[in-house]
Amino acid sequence: MRNKPPKDFTAVRRPPAGFRARKITEAQRLMLNKKKAVRVGGEPASEAEHFMKCPGCGQYFDMRNLGDAFYHDEEGHAPLPVQPVEQWEQS
Ligand SMILES: [Zn+2]
Repeated sequence: MRNKPPKDFTAVRRPPAGFRARKITEAQRLMLNKKKAVRVGGEPASEAEHFMKCPGCGQYFDMRNLGDAFYHDEEGHAPLPVQPVEQWEQS
């Protein structure tokens, strides 16, 4: 038998005062980025829909990269370092 949901969902979903999410390490971020993401609801009409502008630092990131998504969710983070186009690997 399932438990009844609480009457006030916001009381359950809101983190307690003073709560700070644990920062992920660079190794964890890179490991999470390697996991294959599956979009819910089918593929978007445009590749651009995979990207989001971070409200914290203003950097655009690919939401399919789970590690980057967790990183940009942390309070007070700096933009991730970017690699110059000349150093991109040819694929
Ligand atoms: Zn950010």
